[in-house]
Amino acid sequence: MGEVISPVDGAGIGVVPGCSVEDVDAAVSRAAAAFETWRHVAPGDRGRLLRRFAAQVDAHLEELALLEVRNAGHTIGNARWEAGNVRDVLDYYAGAPERLTGHQIPVPGGLDVTFHEPLGVVGVIVPWNFPMPIAGWGFAPALAAGNTVVLKPAELTPLTALRLADLARDAGLPDGVFTVLPGRGSVVGERFVTHPAVRKICFTGSTEVGTRIMAGCAAQVKRVTLELGGKSANIVFADADLEKAAATAPYAVFDNAGQDCCARSRILVQRRVYDRFLELLEPAVRAFRVENPARESAEMGPLISAAHRDRVAGYVDGADVAFTGSCPDGPGFWYAPTVLLAGSPADRHWREEVFGPVVSVLPFDDEADAIRLANDTEYGLSGSIWTRDVGRAVRVARAVESGNLSVNSHSSVRYWTPFGGMKRSGLGRELGPDALHAFTDVKNVFIGTEE
Ligand code: NAD
Repeated sequence: MGEVISPVDGAGIGVVPGCSVEDVDAAVSRAAAAFETWRHVAPGDRGRLLRRFAAQVDAHLEELALLEVRNAGHTIGNARWEAGNVRDVLDYYAGAPERLTGHQIPVPGGLDVTFHEPLGVVGVIVPWNFPMPIAGWGFAPALAAGNTVVLKPAELTPLTALRLADLARDAGLPDGVFTVLPGRGSVVGERFVTHPAVRKICFTGSTEVGTRIMAGCAAQVKRVTLELGGKSANIVFADADLEKAAATAPYAVFDNAGQDCCARSRILVQRRVYDRFLELLEPAVRAFRVENPARESAEMGPLISAAHRDRVAGYVDGADVAFTGSCPDGPGFWYAPTVLLAGSPADRHWREEVFGPVVSVLPFDDEADAIRLANDTEYGLSGSIWTRDVGRAVRVARAVESGNLSVNSHSSVRYWTPFGGMKRSGLGRELGPDALHAFTDVKNVFIGTEE
């Protein structure tokens, strides 16, 4: 922890010292004190402060986007969307405090009502692949529900989160309500898990670390939301619009250089159109624009680090490469989009999350075979189904064990619809109308009315 490196050219772009356990403890104490006032801020005022925070993000959208281009190598188009997503998520949940209603349940002898009580201090732990949106998906609903937040960005990408904390302060959020604590997972992240005043962990990252965090939270029965890895299937049936399926498949996996938990990194193609699909896919992959992400035309930038590039390359070594796209040479952590042919579902690149611009293709025979192969994974985050048969689209969408599916499209994320994984891809849902309840506990109160 310390020097921040740009993956675009390997240059140092700043120094961010990591927080110590003592720093975390002091910040959690401030957040716990702030909770006692924040939870009692009138719902309309809490909403207004979040809308002001959203307006600050909007006013600094280009600055935040350029920071992410430099720090994470995201294309400028994506980075603008990401900063805009933080604004939109804040605006969406800014409407929540006044709508956080409970039930009134008929009971004999009195009045029974439920309240959605905030939990206290929430610890949000963020990975490096989407530093801004994933931070916002945690802190916006948590704050709206009346919690205070401590947030740890990933070691490699702390810059936008730190800037968001400044913008929150400029918007008028009281001291201690939203604190960003850069540092190591093993120091800051672990202290969030062990600190008794942190009442919930909202974690996005690898399944390996998420599993450990869940075990750590168990010791205190601490609430936890987990958004973990994925190995999502893009299922192309013979009756699909093959041209469209092939033209869009690269975007579904190479966006953000494949460093996307929703990447459709396994393409399943019905056997009788397999050759034709690959013929159509090849020019789309070769045309994919991998270049300096600051250019408006860029469709993909570099990988996050040299070490990650080596890890991605390890999956391609010895595999059956069908074709590749191109990428710049020279400094920066570049890797060309790569299409691999899977010999069988046992291939390592078919089974494991590569988290890079590498996609594996495998033929299937019929609908049942497609569903079996799609579900033959420990993950269950997203996926796509391409077919013109509406009945089949619905049958397959119901049968694939994934939290987010799209038909004749690759869209996964809208801030007003739920997002999250099945199986080892996660626990709980973010975004959408129900996410707020993941940051509250239900309290039932009975008021006797008998004389
Ligand atoms: P990671 O698990 O290594 O790190 C994620 C965060 O956890 C970082 O901030 C890290 O510092 C922290 N951390 C590490 N060890 C910790 C510990 N012992 N205790 C507490 N915190 C700790 O993941 P990564 O490499 O940054 O991100 C890539 C992974 O994230 C991929 O597997 C990807 O699929 C997943 N991801 C999932 C989603 C989703 O919504 N499901 C979204 C984005 C990324």
